[in-house]
Amino acid sequence: LRTPLIIGNWKMHKTVAEAVAYVTTFLPHIAQVTGIEIGIAPVFTALSSVVAAAAGSALRVLAQNVAAEGPTGAFTGEVAAEMLREVGCYGVIVGHSERRRYYGETDTVVAAKVRRALNAQLLPVACIGETLEEREAGTALSVVERQLRAIAGTLTPDEAPRIVLAYEPVWAIGTGRAATPEVVQVMHRHLRATWEECFGAPAAEALRILYGGSVTADNIAAFTSLPDVDGALVGGASLSPNGFAQLIQRS
Ligand code: 13P
Repeated sequence: LRTPLIIGNWKMHKTVAEAVAYVTTFLPHIAQVTGIEIGIAPVFTALSSVVAAAAGSALRVLAQNVAAEGPTGAFTGEVAAEMLREVGCYGVIVGHSERRRYYGETDTVVAAKVRRALNAQLLPVACIGETLEEREAGTALSVVERQLRAIAGTLTPDEAPRIVLAYEPVWAIGTGRAATPEVVQVMHRHLRATWEECFGAPAAEALRILYGGSVTADNIAAFTSLPDVDGALVGGASLSPNGFAQLIQRS
């Protein structure tokens, strides 16, 4: 019913030359993979070249961020959703915890970015997740539900199927300490139930929810085997083409 989706978020890594070399190595590895949608999210400067290198393959190319405004305007340093679409992006990661934490992105800003992505026919991969303090305070479910409802509030019912969610607990990102499958399943179940409240049962059944946070080739199967996990958002373990291909094969 829900096609699994695995996306490599390269964060601020790889020159254009490195990104193109990666794709050249990576594509033959995934040529035989079926039933899984695969994406990579390079830095802005590498997007055009990576789209060209991936042409004719099933590999999806996503941006890591998008302006909350658009389609043009006096917003120095920003890139509009329509511009990402123009260079061949399939989607965009929105509201990553690093954006929320280091660049002050609020729920309101994240919702505006989701709106912009949808207007430009890009797939938004909207990230939500609690901090360690919030988990220890027992507020993980309510914090993440608040983040989710802010995103849901910007969507019309017919747009609900055009978005992917990524649950990324902040304490599991880049720490080598992935969340346990139990924690992930409980959260994903809760998110799907919340989506059902917003948009109804068929929309909730169709919603893809990815897990992110220290996913590796060794632990991927423990997540993808969970009933409410529909793929992964992978940071560090996506930086090597051979390693990322192995992770996908084991998913
Ligand atoms: P790591 O896989 O490096 O923990 O990063 C996760 C992440 O933030 C993906 O968006």
